[in-house]
Amino acid sequence: MTALDVNALTALLSAGEVSAVEVTRAHLDRIAADDATLGAYLHVDGNAALAAAAAVDEARAGGAALGPLAGVPVALKDVVVTEGVPTTSGSKILEGWRPPYDATVAERLKSAGTVLLGKTNMDEFAMGSSTENSAYRVTRNPWDPDRIPGGSSGGSSAAVAGHLAPWAIGTDTGGSIRQPAAVTGLVGHKPTYGSVSRYGLIAFSSSLDQAGPMARTVLDAAVLHEAIGGYDRRDSTSIDVPLPRLADAARAGATGDLAGLRIGVVTELGGEGHSDGYEPGVLARFGEALEVLAGLGAEIVPVSCPTFDLALAAYYLIAPSEASSNLARFDGVRFGLRVGDDGSHDLDEVMALTREQGFGPEVKRRIILGTYALSSGYYEAYYGQAQKVRTLISREFAAAFDRTDGAGVDVLVSPTTPTVAFPIGSRVDDPIAMYAADLCTLPASLAGVPAISVPCGLSEGLPVGLQVMAPGLADDRCYRVAAALEAAQDAARGHRLLDELPARTTA
Ligand code: GLN
Repeated sequence: MTALDVNALTALLSAGEVSAVEVTRAHLDRIAADDATLGAYLHVDGNAALAAAAAVDEARAGGAALGPLAGVPVALKDVVVTEGVPTTSGSKILEGWRPPYDATVAERLKSAGTVLLGKTNMDEFAMGSSTENSAYRVTRNPWDPDRIPGGSSGGSSAAVAGHLAPWAIGTDTGGSIRQPAAVTGLVGHKPTYGSVSRYGLIAFSSSLDQAGPMARTVLDAAVLHEAIGGYDRRDSTSIDVPLPRLADAARAGATGDLAGLRIGVVTELGGEGHSDGYEPGVLARFGEALEVLAGLGAEIVPVSCPTFDLALAAYYLIAPSEASSNLARFDGVRFGLRVGDDGSHDLDEVMALTREQGFGPEVKRRIILGTYALSSGYYEAYYGQAQKVRTLISREFAAAFDRTDGAGVDVLVSPTTPTVAFPIGSRVDDPIAMYAADLCTLPASLAGVPAISVPCGLSEGLPVGLQVMAPGLADDRCYRVAAALEAAQDAARGHRLLDELPARTTA
């Protein structure tokens, strides 16, 4: 049961061939067997999960009309606030905090009848690309336990890739859904900014943060996205328009017809003259995937977006600036950890001691960087400049997607990451090398446009991802193209197996 995708699971559940309790127990058994090694979860409450599953089974037995996701287990990144369930955002400063309310994402999944398996590990406050910045534990890549599962949503990627959850929620500020999905062989989608509620996500960089789905198939990702997405009046940046039909787009894509679609290959993301730092195996798989897409009828054209080269620099000013402001609320007074409150320290000292002991090195680095970039005299030179670059990046996307004169493209593509999963420990002392993991994902984050990562083969036995970026609110295009590639690759894999068949039978 843990090997099935959600589409298959829901069919079995609604036909009554398996119960929600059986499905949940299968995943809990798998967690008990493998999570000591993988380190995907920070918190699992088996009894609560089984009780929730039993309630679904009872309702079904009583003839209640249940939604299609009733009884399907799910894992949530620990940045998503969950009522009564420990939520730490990967930080010691929130140790022991049990939120008094549910994030909109958690609430929507609950009311759809999904069963919460647990909360997944992450880089502290979602700052990182390897999950090594978690204050709690190391998470390992199921493809190779000596390698990182990506980050910051590395607990979610390891859980889904290792079959410790059928799917999971991640959050993406600069790449934290797409990059971990890419390096663990999953599908991960960062929705259009404002189309999935941020209410109850512990804020890192509010103008960039978005929650989204991580799954083993494109269709599953689309279905999970539909379950969490849509307008929420409790998020002031929520967009009040209906989501496009994402699961339908995935199904349409899977028919393999991309005729009439124009796909732009971003030169600055691994193309000619810009391939420094990109592994040859990654570029090879990307190139082959482009041939597959062309074979499905898409027209492939190069597109140059020169300011994408500045995305990394702009992001690492904007995100830390917003973080320095957002993280000021962790002062030892209102949430979680409090240090030095023994009568011998005054309030300022308690705050300083709490922040000193509660925050890890990367979080402190970002708070210092962000405070500096926002300080008087430097604001215009750093933060202000970065915002101008952000505008230019948005304009380049808009120009690329402008099809009024017949030019322009429907989607842009690139590799999702410059390299496959790197070894644990290899970048943790080199923040700049760690930041480079997001080279390809940052432009879409800064512009707020949707982007998906879909598997496109292996390099040295490790997964490679292809990124599809679309105009704002056209998330359906990401799913359509990703599903077409997925279906073509599945078909190719099937043919290869068939080719091998006679040899195997004779053997
Ligand atoms: N790796 C990037 C960072 O450290 C992006 C993280 C994210 O998307 N949450 O900021």
